Amino acid sequence: MVIVMAPEVTQGDIDSVVDLVRAAGGEAFVSRGVSRTIIGLVGDVDHFGALNLRSRSGVSDVIRVSVPYKLVSREHHSERSVISVAGVPIGPSTTTLIAGPCSVETPEQTLAAALMARQAGACLLRGGAFKPRSSPYAFQGLGEAGLKILAEVRAEVGLPIVTEVVDPASVDLVCAHADMLQVGTRNMQNFALLQAVGSAGKPVMLKRGMNATIEEWLMAAEYIAQRGNLDIVLCERGIRTFETATRNTLDISAVPIAQRLSHLPVIVDPSHSGGRRDLVLPLTRAAIAVGADGVIIDVHPEPAKALCDGDQALADDDIRELAEVMQSMPAMLGRTLALPPQPQAAAGPLTPASL
Ligand code: PEP
Ligand code: MN
Repeated sequence: MVIVMAPEVTQGDIDSVVDLVRAAGGEAFVSRGVSRTIIGLVGDVDHFGALNLRSRSGVSDVIRVSVPYKLVSREHHSERSVISVAGVPIGPSTTTLIAGPCSVETPEQTLAAALMARQAGACLLRGGAFKPRSSPYAFQGLGEAGLKILAEVRAEVGLPIVTEVVDPASVDLVCAHADMLQVGTRNMQNFALLQAVGSAGKPVMLKRGMNATIEEWLMAAEYIAQRGNLDIVLCERGIRTFETATRNTLDISAVPIAQRLSHLPVIVDPSHSGGRRDLVLPLTRAAIAVGADGVIIDVHPEPAKALCDGDQALADDDIRELAEVMQSMPAMLGRTLALPPQPQAAAGPLTPASL
């Protein structure tokens, strides 16, 4: 941390900052320039925070040199991490496709979407049972009944489940069925929820808040890590900008930036970022090309009838093209497509009617 003193600073101001820092267990090194004096601090930055240095007499600015997050930073762990979700890797040498319906609606719809996901090359099934909707009048999800449908479809199709948890009170219930917990954009700074999923013992996918900076996103991940859970995957899902042509603006630079700052895997949600079916494949290609460790994509057997986010769901007709992207692009980046935990043949021939 560096303290920049004001041009009119007095020797008394400088001495009092140095004394405060030393009393807090740190060391302070004073450098006098022609017009400015700066004081370099060495020690635990978190202790210096309580000193309110910015408001001290003669202080013009306080500049933090080290990052405020620790456990999730590459300073803590220089190698990029691989997270295992029920045996499925998410990390730097693979590309992981997570696909499924935005919401679980019926057993038939969920199974049909899971079959589409598997055909596209997915190794994890997404699907919301608890839906954090902007409108209280919109479909809120099936809750526990939706989790049970997901568990039945997992048994049929062999894809582990990623599903959202929206409050601390339902963490245990969601954990009883899910292989990975999703924290959505609207809950990225729900600190009680972050702490609860940090203690839950399951991998967590943390979506970036639509209004959050990359640093705020990493601080949210730090809340989870601080509870002892480092099995975290970051998901860039688009941010709010002035642009109205898309639902959100996919911040593609956030992928390499977050990967440089944090050892955690970073995936992209091309569905919720663009909010438009016609953008899902182009944004998927962009995500893989920029080095994302995976993508999470909405698919639906009948998008026009979807109870949530039908406009952005890939339909049956789009699955072949998604499969081609997933088969061809990872290798160009020196990666392999992550595989489901069991051979697909073992799941046997399936139809929606078999549920
Ligand atoms: C979702 O993935 O279903 C979802 C609600 O995403 P987000 O939190 O990114 O809006
Ligand atoms: Mn959705």
